[in-house]
Amino acid sequence: MSEVWQAHLEKELAQLEREGNFRSLHPVEEAQQPVLIRGGRRLVNLSSNNYLGLAGHPDVIQAAQTAARRGAGSTASRLITGDDEAVESLERRLADWKGTEAAMVFGSGYMANVGILSALLGREDMVFSDWLNHASIIDGIRLSRAACHRYRHRDLDHLEAGLKRAVQQGKRRLLIVTDSVFSMDGDTAPLQDLVFLKEKYGAALMVDEAHGSGVFGPRGEGLAASLGLSDRIDLQMGTFSKAFGVYGAYAAGRETWIRYLVNKCRSFIFTTALPPAVIGSIHAALDHVIRGTELRQSLNEKAKRFREGLQQQGWDTSGSETQIVPIVIGGSREASAFSRYLEERGILGVAIRPPTVPEGTSRIRFSLMATHREEDLEQVINLLKEARISWEVGRFA
Ligand SMILES: *Cc1c(COP(=O)(O)O)cnc(C)c1O
Repeated sequence: MSEVWQAHLEKELAQLEREGNFRSLHPVEEAQQPVLIRGGRRLVNLSSNNYLGLAGHPDVIQAAQTAARRGAGSTASRLITGDDEAVESLERRLADWKGTEAAMVFGSGYMANVGILSALLGREDMVFSDWLNHASIIDGIRLSRAACHRYRHRDLDHLEAGLKRAVQQGKRRLLIVTDSVFSMDGDTAPLQDLVFLKEKYGAALMVDEAHGSGVFGPRGEGLAASLGLSDRIDLQMGTFSKAFGVYGAYAAGRETWIRYLVNKCRSFIFTTALPPAVIGSIHAALDHVIRGTELRQSLNEKAKRFREGLQQQGWDTSGSETQIVPIVIGGSREASAFSRYLEERGILGVAIRPPTVPEGTSRIRFSLMATHREEDLEQVINLLKEARISWEVGRFA
């Protein structure tokens, strides 16, 4: 055993402990439900991405069981023997749903972003990425070795200055990439303006609808569709792990882009296709997403009530305008103590700390579900009023 490595790993872990950024695993039961069980305690689940409750829906579970009769695994990469007819039909349905020429399925959202960005971009290209984009976008850009201009969060002037400079420098291929709904702030990208800028500078635009898919748009297509912008965005991606309640991801866009990715995307080529059960569940979840108008309405109403309740109490909800409602606490230790305080009172609100969010902005990230009971949410709102008094007197510091 290498003593050098052992000492190094222990030192790094001790450093995380000192900063209050140490992470550990906590098993839960009934994670798919609006109230789950952790450490033997029932907690109102305000920390999952299961926005429509589909992860626990009998139809979606049944579809997995039915599909699993065909086999446990997909046996190979899509390009070898893993290309099940059910994936092909899913991709046709996805393109139809998104209103794009083509669509393709990935193993996960992380794999999609890492693979897509590293396949599209090379050393000679320039990419423009919002400061608060998801880690998978950041990693994909790093892997691509393209020059990157990280623009300040939602700052169009900062973005445009970078675009202008790139054009002056004679850069030919430019790509703007953004989350549609920012995962830790719950605010949204100025998609209309991004489309304007990308057209003005001849750039391409890729939008990550991880938290928009299923939640926005008349058929849950995402935020871009709800703004009527789908046609003007070069590539949209999203995951099946959030509002869909399953696993896996998609990319949708022009046929040329999708055919290129099938040929060049390493996280698509060099990995085994999703198993039949997962594809079966995604098909069923898509049915529910498409006709999920009432679920979306219920989710949005609950989120609005929750957000406004917290704002009235004076909490900094960091620009939230969606089902993701953070309260910014500050230090990592303080946010962890706050989370424990909530847990002792029957609420699961996980502390989100660096490097997931910038230093000094540790927070509790609440996320709403269409299936939450209104009484439970009211109780949480009341409790947060009390918690705020404790927080103001520095009880968690
Ligand atoms: C969760 C998330 C991903 C990754 O998706 P997975 O399917 O969980 O791997 C990508 N982008 C954003 C914005 C996300 O929030």
